[in-house]
Amino acid sequence: MENIRSVSDTNQAEIQKIFKAQQQRQYDIGRSIAAERIVKLKRFHQAITDYTSEIRQALYDDLRKHPSETDLTEIYCITGEIKHAIRHLKKWMKPKRVATPIALLGTGSYIHYEPKGVVLIIAPWNFPLNLTFGPLVSAIAAGNCAMVKPSELTPHTSHIMKKMIESLFSPDEVALVEGGVDTSQGLLKLPFNHIFFTGASAIGKIVMEAASKHLASVTLELGGKSPTIVDETASVSTAARRIAWGKFINNGQTCIAPDYLFVHNKIKNAFTERLQKNLEEFYSAEPEKSESYCRMVNNRHFNRVKSYVDEAVSDGAKIISGGVYKNDQNYIAPSLLTDVKPDSALMQEEIFGPVLPINFYEDLNEPLHVIRCREIPLALYIYSNSRKNIKQIIQNTRAGGTVINHSVIHFYQNNLPFGGSNNSGIGKSHGFFGFQAFSNARGIMKQVLPFSGIDLMMPPYTDMKKKLIDLTIKWF
Ligand code: NAD
Repeated sequence: MENIRSVSDTNQAEIQKIFKAQQQRQYDIGRSIAAERIVKLKRFHQAITDYTSEIRQALYDDLRKHPSETDLTEIYCITGEIKHAIRHLKKWMKPKRVATPIALLGTGSYIHYEPKGVVLIIAPWNFPLNLTFGPLVSAIAAGNCAMVKPSELTPHTSHIMKKMIESLFSPDEVALVEGGVDTSQGLLKLPFNHIFFTGASAIGKIVMEAASKHLASVTLELGGKSPTIVDETASVSTAARRIAWGKFINNGQTCIAPDYLFVHNKIKNAFTERLQKNLEEFYSAEPEKSESYCRMVNNRHFNRVKSYVDEAVSDGAKIISGGVYKNDQNYIAPSLLTDVKPDSALMQEEIFGPVLPINFYEDLNEPLHVIRCREIPLALYIYSNSRKNIKQIIQNTRAGGTVINHSVIHFYQNNLPFGGSNNSGIGKSHGFFGFQAFSNARGIMKQVLPFSGIDLMMPPYTDMKKKLIDLTIKWF
């Protein structure tokens, strides 16, 4: 937007040089004890504090994001993830003893979490700091070397992150590599031990295919359409306010934003009126002038979302709020639509913009049927005060995560696994689950006593040994 900056691709020779250096260094880094990793995490935390004003400016330049929204949706997520890792890392790294079955009496076993080795993190533009540094915190906590490629669409934030990484790490431990698709594909040719990708489902398939060439493990944090059900027992005012917030924060460019609503007919009018009021309270009657309302990341995405709305309207949909555009600013007013056809792009594609289609229903089975016919969403939100309805929704749908009576806040809960299922993702992140994603759970077993039952069952298989094997199968 302002101070246009751009990102250039990093050449393949440079990428290979860093990768080789990290491969050589990986065992030094991997041997580090919890206290050493905690020092790195504390320095990382300090850098976020030191660079806060530059981070806020970069996010304003990339997405016209209000500094408070940057604090809440970018900085807080990273500082929270770092503090959580610092608090728990010692416990996560501690070998985990497991029970010994009777047949293996005389042995002891434990799980040792070792680093995967050299890992690649590819990040999207929508929360460019949060979704680049979040997985990096987990990779560092797990003792890996990492190459990180942020999105080329948010160059100001990418530039600041590069500066920070260079001030904190030598490139043979952590390196931030700038560039677009060519750089990304250059990186994907290398035999990383793990690839953590956040982005669109279509690109996730490209990443997984590239990973298969080296059998690299993957964590794929993907997108999709997250449905929200507001039933007849929900508190209308609470639901409307929290849905307005979760949907329109970051201009709707949030992977877990409520993508489309199902509202019970009984509260139809009260809910839509309240939602309209909330949008006005948040962003004023002229959102274009509101400092709290950010923008679409670029003109391509602006046109994409506008075309969804134009198509829906020409097919009979009604705009009940918004529908105002400013092409030169990538501005789309917060928009609410009703009567959207199920086969329209607005109801088929991930919207990823400030437009919310509202559907109404009479019987809870109607939305459940629609949701089940689609890909598994990254998130599913339930606004209800009926235990029966909540149970029915959870048991009859699948989703990466669910929040009851709020929107998107599960992202902040580091004790829960975060991620999708199938089309919305593979693997989980945050807290211990992020540490696990970047670790190999190595099973280690030791023969402690000189005597082992298995020693008695080795060839040749005499009658006596056959009896012993039969007994073992029968009783142990
Ligand atoms: P994207 O998939 O276009 O880009 C993500 C990254 O992949 C970028 O760094 C980009 O340079 C790289 N890339 C793009 N095309 C590539 C290709 N052909 N080969 C190799 N690399 C390529 O995604 P985006 O537009 O940056 O982000 C939006 C998408 O990300 C949405 O679908 C959203 O739901 C999803 N998302 C998911 C999560 C999550 O946690 N599950 C979080 C944020 C965004």
